[in-house]
Amino acid sequence: MHTHVEADHHGHLSLDQELMDASAAYFRGEHNRTPTVDDLAAYYRARDMAAVIFTVDAGTGLDHPPLSSEEIVERAAAHNDVLIPFGSVDPRRGEAAVRQARRLVEEYGVKGFKFHPGLQAFAPDDPEFRPLWAALEELGTVALFHTGQTGIGAGLPGGRGIKLRYSDPLLLDDVAAEFPGLTIVMAHPAVPWVDTQISVATHKANVYIDLSGWSPKYFPPQLVRQLNGPLRHKVLFGSDFPVITPDRWFADLAKLEIKDEVKPLLLKENALRLLGLRTGEAA
Ligand SMILES: [Zn+2]
Repeated sequence: MHTHVEADHHGHLSLDQELMDASAAYFRGEHNRTPTVDDLAAYYRARDMAAVIFTVDAGTGLDHPPLSSEEIVERAAAHNDVLIPFGSVDPRRGEAAVRQARRLVEEYGVKGFKFHPGLQAFAPDDPEFRPLWAALEELGTVALFHTGQTGIGAGLPGGRGIKLRYSDPLLLDDVAAEFPGLTIVMAHPAVPWVDTQISVATHKANVYIDLSGWSPKYFPPQLVRQLNGPLRHKVLFGSDFPVITPDRWFADLAKLEIKDEVKPLLLKENALRLLGLRTGEAA
């Protein structure tokens, strides 16, 4: 459910070099940090896995030109056995963002959108963004939001201006309440608000959790209890590649006590239901 395209085929990167370097220092690891769509297809095909892929358009928040979601969808079409592209629009662009979202669904066929409130510098519960959530609800797409702390900007003065509070999952409770037909995914164990996140996912039928961005080794015990129990139909596998590889994520998951009947839900079935896909059918 959570894989990042970090470079396009013209050599343009999703983040500026300072943020790329800070993120690399935070997450460490040896693999390719700036995969293109073609790189991701080869990587996932070799593992017999499918991946939801996206970039983040933080053109306003980071003052850095985004990768093109339209181009990502076009490149991903050649790899529709393994890649499921989501779009990204910059909510700070107002009406233009709503129009682009509509086009990405109606003309490009994306099944969802990735938002990163910290990087995109917006509060999801701000009434200013209601037209965007209303459009996504009407279009029947998934809205996936980064929640919790972030490695982007970590260790830099002022975290490079990135505000963590925008990624508080409680802000999504407002959105979920006001747009009950909008499917929301809270990405990552939302450290330091995991209890809040569990409450929102428990209370709102339209809210899910993807378990990317942290090795399962660091999952808080209350989250493990929930995914083995009441939230078993609301949790989704994701690694956040390239910052964490699925190989490492799976190796560390194997050390957790996950019930056998929960594994197929967590690893595939919940995502298929969410995306309206059947087995054997990718994008
Ligand atoms: Zn992400």
